[in-house]
Amino acid sequence: MTRRLITLSKESVMYSFDPDLNPVAFAQPGDLLEVNTMDALGGQVRSEEDLVTSIDFNKVNPATGPIYVMNAEPGDALVVRILKIETADKGFVITAPGAGVLTSLVKQAKTRTCYVRGDYVEFLGFKVPAWRMIGVIGVASKEKPPTGTPGKHGGNLDTKFITEGATVYLPVIYRGGLLGIGDLHAVMAHGEACVAACEVEGKVLVEIDLLKNTAPLWPVVEYKDSTYILVSTDNINNSLEVATDVSVRVLSTALGIEWHDAYMLTSLSIDLGISQLVDPKKTAWARIPKYILGSMDVIKALAELRKNQELWL
Ligand code: CA
Repeated sequence: MTRRLITLSKESVMYSFDPDLNPVAFAQPGDLLEVNTMDALGGQVRSEEDLVTSIDFNKVNPATGPIYVMNAEPGDALVVRILKIETADKGFVITAPGAGVLTSLVKQAKTRTCYVRGDYVEFLGFKVPAWRMIGVIGVASKEKPPTGTPGKHGGNLDTKFITEGATVYLPVIYRGGLLGIGDLHAVMAHGEACVAACEVEGKVLVEIDLLKNTAPLWPVVEYKDSTYILVSTDNINNSLEVATDVSVRVLSTALGIEWHDAYMLTSLSIDLGISQLVDPKKTAWARIPKYILGSMDVIKALAELRKNQELWL
């Protein structure tokens, strides 16, 4: 069977993961999608004279979609393999009073250009190694979250591991999943301190797949030798605590070991970290190395936790 390639225009834009939106494309598991995307500022910043304080906030954080995946039923896991990310050769970093981690210390709105030159991004003459990644990837959710907010449905996860070669697993909440992808970064550091990455337009080539009846409790990213569980809540301390709690439960469930043993094994082998501190919810990650547990075992354990979540969340 030949695989289809479906191309989506960056004009097919959505601003919330709303289950009532009409799909702009229909994909079968196995199809390839070429997803063109606007930048996170909706293309409204075109020079260093364009400040974030004067743009229309109804048009920020656009994602391309929603994409209806045939045969995706609530309770399934939607699998998105990121085959390629290409970005424009110019992007922008912005900040403004109240923005980012240092809020009140920011005295003025400022926009700076970053030039994407192959394997590095030039910013004020500094050469920062390029790290092309997807900021927003998610599915429709009951709360109709804005595309700028991360959560159990995915969304604005702003996590560096969502990059070329990674596979993202999201829970299907509504039939068809209703996938949206956007907000490419040419480079970002974890934390995203000033509120922005090098925000760029671009296009992503992904392969779509499904795992039946395996919706994970939180979004999962498989990247190189590890599997990352991404937890977003109202504050970062809580996100880190939940990521730890979930990791211990995953190890205990999947390895068949007692909770305290799993807690100690977590302390020896599971790195915890911060994706971003600046979105409406703050995202933390837990890294499960494959020498402890394979990705499918992590996802199956997270699917069990999702089915039992009313017992403890
Ligand atoms: Ca973002």
